[in-house]
Amino acid sequence: MLQTYIRALLSPQGDLEDFSAWRDRILSLLLICTLVLGSLVAVPSILVALSVGLWSVALVDAIALGWGLTIWLKRSLSFRARAWNYCVILYFLGLALLVTAGVASQTYLIAFPVMTALLLGFRPALFALALNAVTLPAIGYSFNGDLHIKGLNPQPFLEWMVITVNFTFVSAMLTISIVVLLNGLEKALAKRRDSERRYRTLIEWTPEPLAVHDGERFVYVNPAAVELFGATSAQDLVGKSIYDVIHPDSQKIVQGRLNIHRQQAGTLPSREQKLLKIDGSTIIAEVRSARITFDGKDAIQIALHDITERKAAQDQVQQLVFSDPLTGLSNRRFLMERLKQALTATIRRQRLGALVFVDLDNFKTFNETQGQEQGDHYLQYVTERLRHCIREGDTVARFGGDEFVVLLEELNGNPQDAATQAETIGEKILRSLSQPYEFGSSEHHGTASIGITLFGDEHGSTSDPLMQAELAMYQAKAAGRNVLRFFDPQMQAAVSRRAALEAALREALSKNQFFLEYQVQVTDTGQAVGVEALVRWHDPLRGRVSPAEFISLAEETGLILPLGYWVLETACMQLALWASRPEMANLTVAVNVSAVQFHQKDFVAQTLAVLERTGANPYRLKLELTESLLVTEVEEVIAKMNALKGKGVGFALDDFGTGYSSLSILKRLPLDQLKIDQGFVRDILIDPNDAAIAGMVVALADKMGLTVIAEGVETVAQRELLADFGCHHYQGYLFSRPLPIDEFESFAARP
Ligand code: C2E
Ligand code: CA
Ligand code: CA
Repeated sequence: MLQTYIRALLSPQGDLEDFSAWRDRILSLLLICTLVLGSLVAVPSILVALSVGLWSVALVDAIALGWGLTIWLKRSLSFRARAWNYCVILYFLGLALLVTAGVASQTYLIAFPVMTALLLGFRPALFALALNAVTLPAIGYSFNGDLHIKGLNPQPFLEWMVITVNFTFVSAMLTISIVVLLNGLEKALAKRRDSERRYRTLIEWTPEPLAVHDGERFVYVNPAAVELFGATSAQDLVGKSIYDVIHPDSQKIVQGRLNIHRQQAGTLPSREQKLLKIDGSTIIAEVRSARITFDGKDAIQIALHDITERKAAQDQVQQLVFSDPLTGLSNRRFLMERLKQALTATIRRQRLGALVFVDLDNFKTFNETQGQEQGDHYLQYVTERLRHCIREGDTVARFGGDEFVVLLEELNGNPQDAATQAETIGEKILRSLSQPYEFGSSEHHGTASIGITLFGDEHGSTSDPLMQAELAMYQAKAAGRNVLRFFDPQMQAAVSRRAALEAALREALSKNQFFLEYQVQVTDTGQAVGVEALVRWHDPLRGRVSPAEFISLAEETGLILPLGYWVLETACMQLALWASRPEMANLTVAVNVSAVQFHQKDFVAQTLAVLERTGANPYRLKLELTESLLVTEVEEVIAKMNALKGKGVGFALDDFGTGYSSLSILKRLPLDQLKIDQGFVRDILIDPNDAAIAGMVVALADKMGLTVIAEGVETVAQRELLADFGCHHYQGYLFSRPLPIDEFESFAARP
């Protein structure tokens, strides 16, 4: 019991802030010590005193011991009463023993003011000092004059005064020291208690959830934190393991932060964490933490900021901005973002990635024949299958229409191996997408074409992987669909060249770098009956660029519209000029018209306007059309031709024999002429097939009541054979190359 008492007393766990509690403990300890040590001293001293007849000493000891025991037992007495009693016991002992045992007992009198100061404070201590100062000489002088101070002749009064002064001086020193010390302590404690109280109030009142834990368990939570965790009171959380409220996803983060806290003091910045409420639901909070001292021990204080709602709102926005509403897949924008990140990440990690560009085969036809709703279902089926084909961490995005792009990351750093990995996934996608699709009672068999390109190679960091994958996909389409193709750099070079050419072409249009050449068309007798206008482009950088190269590009880019218009207008102007010159007046001018051009809604009006404006005779204008024009919108084409024909414009079918137009359509076209393609003329003497086709074209023209002209005639033998077949109009180097206007005019003026 004594041990626990002492331990409780010495232990720093006690409420050290409370000064009076402290005094109470000191008194208890003093009483125990006094009783134990007092018994040990008093019992033998009583025996000794009795044996030598000093019964008064024995009596004093016994009274003091009994008195002390009474205070110890009388717990119901107030602290002040007990403390006074204790101090009075000391005074009584000093007084009594001074009388009975002599000067040695002064020690008890010193203890009297000192202990009074300690237990009761300054005023009582002053009283005790004063009482001592009176008591000592009075008792000493009247009861114990038998004292000698060396060097002084026996003068009891003087001697006692000297003793009293010295005694009072020493005890006053001790007493005042204790008073000052205790006052300071009391003030410090009060101050600390005050600031502590203020801090607690702040923490309790702050709307910011705060908690303190010892690295394992909560030791404190404020009301805001109680609310955050959905608890009813702090008791629900204090003592609980902190890991009970941390979502498994965030436990690693927390452990990492605790490790840092163990190694260094200070605060760690906010970090997003997933937490669990008491009911098990998840919240997301930004958590700040700091190492602090709490109740005298190292602890971690955390401040929480609930961002669950903000996150949810952000996610929703993210969802809206970055996903495709039909399939729920990521959209183009998201993929571009991912790709940007992936590009830098793969280079940094010396890994490769791949883009897999998936395009459904014949989706347009499916959509048109089955309806858009079925089309949507089809895309959703495809989405589901794509999701099954990829690994976790890879991204599938819908790129628009029936195009999907899969972003593969973390492939092997070796290109060969990475290509194999990407190919495996690509093949898997092809297989999966070619499985039949169920649409109600019917089945659909669809396929896809896939283009793949690798990225992440430092050297290739300037290239555009998306464009490469798309190009590769077109290659796959060209290779017959339902296949997979990898991007190859030569393809890239061709594409780049084309892009540069396109830019140059645009510039040429705005800078008028085009001009026309005219190639004569003659009859058997060598008489010129017409010309074909052929466009020429002189590029300052490239020199002369062949129409074979730039016309198809102009058609793809739509540049053929302004270019074709310019050709038509220039040719008509020429026609109008020639009308006034007898040697040129009967020439027809043939102008090549691309399908794209002819399909324009207002092509007829445009042409008539040009004729009107230039004053050219429509009967002398001949438009050369190709069979490719007849692939779509045949009725409209026929109507347009008829409209122009009605105004006198003539038509020739160019490159005839190379296309597949059906006779039934041909018969309905208001044509004037068929033009035997130069490919047949070239080998007409060598290849019997070509000769046969040329012959058949002549026969067909004859049957349909059309004239026929052969182009690319280079030799007399070719011309003679064509004449034998019944073809009497020719165009070719044998007669003249295409010539610039001046040269052509002097050529035509020859006798
Ligand atoms: P095309 O309409 O079949 O034009 C005939 C092409 O054969 C011309 O090539 C002409 O220079 C060439 N040629 C003429 N005689 C001979 C010959 O004896 N031997 C050989 N080997 N070739 C001969 P060019 O001028 O390079 O034009 C190529 C193609 O470009 C034209 O083929 C035509 O499809 C297109 N094109 C040219 N000018 C225009 C135009 O103003 N508008 C449109 N839409 N296309 C044009
Ligand atoms: Ca032509
Ligand atoms: Ca031709």
